[in-house]
Amino acid sequence: MGSRQRLFWCSDPYDLPASDGRFVRAAADNCAFHIRRCPEYAAIARRLGFSPDQLKTVEDLAKIPPIPTLFFKRHAVFSMPDRWPVAMRVTSSGTSGKFSQINFDWGCVLAEVPMILRLGWRHRLISPVPANCVVLGYKPDKHNRTGVTRTMFGLTFFSPPLRRTYALHYKNGTYVPDLDRVIRDLEGYASSPFPTRIIGFPSYLWFGLKRMEELGIRLKLRPGSRILLAGGWKQHYAQEVEKPRLYALVRTVLGVEEDHIHEFFGAVEHPIFFNACPRHRFHIPAYSRVVIRDVETLEPLPMGKAGLVNLISPLIKATPVTSVITDDLGYLEPGEACGCGIPSPTLTILGRVGLSDITTCAAGAAQLLGKGEGL
Ligand SMILES: [Zn+2]
Repeated sequence: MGSRQRLFWCSDPYDLPASDGRFVRAAADNCAFHIRRCPEYAAIARRLGFSPDQLKTVEDLAKIPPIPTLFFKRHAVFSMPDRWPVAMRVTSSGTSGKFSQINFDWGCVLAEVPMILRLGWRHRLISPVPANCVVLGYKPDKHNRTGVTRTMFGLTFFSPPLRRTYALHYKNGTYVPDLDRVIRDLEGYASSPFPTRIIGFPSYLWFGLKRMEELGIRLKLRPGSRILLAGGWKQHYAQEVEKPRLYALVRTVLGVEEDHIHEFFGAVEHPIFFNACPRHRFHIPAYSRVVIRDVETLEPLPMGKAGLVNLISPLIKATPVTSVITDDLGYLEPGEACGCGIPSPTLTILGRVGLSDITTCAAGAAQLLGKGEGL
């Protein structure tokens, strides 16, 4: 078994100290692979004076060249040539018109399986009871390779899916929303003997619930119904509501309690299955490590300080995404501070910088940080 598979198959999902050794070995092997196979990555590593043998402890992981996700939006770089069979090519949703292309190799898909099953089991997502599914996201289409579409479709399989209703349908080259149809189907599902699973963007859930409230619709979905939220608020960021308001509306309109609402975090460039704990915090799973970096100097910051979120994982070999800097701002806190019992540190995302260039990104980050005083 290779070092990557040992990390993904053999690690307790939230015991970071126990997986540190496996993680560092897998990361060193992963970097060595990219340096051998990807000339662009080799050039970056050379310029930064990085070589995989510098990775001895988890603290050394910050030395891996952190590549901005913006780089992958401008350059298609791969560590496996086109003639090699890759499992799939996935893109970010590209709301700004630019999107990353990330190839997934078969070893990556094999490593994702135990990660998803362990975390799905741990967070009570897996059920043998069939469910009606409402996807408040894109209906899969051959023109759509976005990671979020793949994730939402994948999430429908945590219980046997009976039927799927989608909020966004591909018509004449674009996606069009149809919330009224979703609401009609949801009313039908409420009277079915099976639970319902609503999977989707939180913004669409919010708009859908507001629409139902306007129409005076109150449902009581079957016991065991769950709500799975992925993909963030996207272009509706400005309208983000406080989570407690959303949860209260879910309880009123759908009859689903807060402990049956699950949230996920991930990125196409870092497809690690981050699950929110019962207290709605994202604890870092054993398959990922997170470094928070200063927005000006990119130096790693101590726990509690806010900065740019740098995500590290040796999951993918086909694309050199071992260490990526997102345009999200966030901070880390010790796991014990949460109080839910999961020991690994938590990652809190403050917001997306959302500007088109990493230099203006740094300035925007500073501005946003000004709002987050006291962190
Ligand atoms: Zn927690």
